[in-house]
Amino acid sequence: MIKGSCLCAAIEFTLLSQPKAITACHCRMCQKQHGAAFAVYGSVLITQLSINKGAQLLVSYNSSGTVQRQFCQKCGSSLFWSGSEHYSDWVSVALTALDEPYEVKKVKHIHRESRVCWLE
Ligand SMILES: [Zn+2]
Ligand SMILES: [Zn+2]
Repeated sequence: MIKGSCLCAAIEFTLLSQPKAITACHCRMCQKQHGAAFAVYGSVLITQLSINKGAQLLVSYNSSGTVQRQFCQKCGSSLFWSGSEHYSDWVSVALTALDEPYEVKKVKHIHRESRVCWLE
């Protein structure tokens, strides 16, 4: 079990299993939504994500296709990415929102073609 929260701590959640398929995404949508050079996500089955507090503060934005990006309406923290056609049972969780140690074996970098020019 790994606990996580948003910046204002109004939303708290628990991952019931270790995040898998750790991915650093350099796409333009992740850059803009996270306000960062790239977003790092780890995925768990939707049944392995439990929202303990503040679920009513989660706002969804449909960024492309069937994908929903969820964030805290109070502090803006990007938290979850879900609804992909091929992995509809999975939710990707912004790893930086986790507050407890988690396992990372390998990080896969994707959409490098749009990576920012100042990142080494
Ligand atoms: Zn918040
Ligand atoms: Zn992305």
